Amino acid sequence: MNDYSRLIEYLKGYEVNVSDEQISRLDKYYEMLIETNKSLNLTAITEFEDVLVKHFIDSVSIIRDIDLNKNISVIDVGTGAGFPGMVLKIIFPGIDITLFDSLQKRLTFLDGVISTLGLEGIKTFHGRAEEAGHMESMRERFDLCVSRAVASLPVLSELCLPFVKVGGKLVSYKSEKGSEELSDASHALSVLGASVIKQDVFELPGSDMARNLILISKDSSCPKVYPRKPGTPAKKPL
Ligand code: SAM
Repeated sequence: MNDYSRLIEYLKGYEVNVSDEQISRLDKYYEMLIETNKSLNLTAITEFEDVLVKHFIDSVSIIRDIDLNKNISVIDVGTGAGFPGMVLKIIFPGIDITLFDSLQKRLTFLDGVISTLGLEGIKTFHGRAEEAGHMESMRERFDLCVSRAVASLPVLSELCLPFVKVGGKLVSYKSEKGSEELSDASHALSVLGASVIKQDVFELPGSDMARNLILISKDSSCPKVYPRKPGTPAKKPL
């Protein structure tokens, strides 16, 4: 088993205690990630210490701003190999989470992880955000949307905010470009009925990587025309 003390200490700093079982689940997920990555492109980062900081600790860094010790519904848009959503579910088992992506192969990997770890209150959902955002079962259904490395903030806002309940939040995980993207997104946010709560800039422990968590609140329903058809949000950002 790999050494998770850096993550355990990080979580303790936010008064989050994890059991040995949770850590062994995380380690099994790491093993499956590395094994599947040999045949399917899941991650460019494979060394354990790098995965620990840049995937696992980065995923849980949302605890700086959001309390996940509650039974809330969460969607991870563009989850890829499960970041941040799978890590959040393992560390905060009380959340109910949907891992959403347009690439079925990555979701098939995540379905394998879910069944191997015996997780409940988690499912995968395949589709394009531009289409799923109009489905009755998905539109305005989630208390919280999280998303990392999917699109620039103006585009991401259109892809993600339709999933969020009025009064809910979008948390976008960004790099050092967060500030620039934030100023570019002001029009998109006002059109979509949302506003910025906070930009949280910090460094991950043991890394000089600048990280930005951008917290957005959904204040009113998005007009029905959003999201526009697949590809349009990226081609013609709001
Ligand atoms: N969030 C993961 C991470 O940080 O490691 C994966 C990031 S990966 C660069 C972007 C993911 O978003 C891909 O798995 C891709 O299939 C998905 N994606 C991109 N556009 C999407 C869309 N319009 N609807 C659903 N998924 C999308």
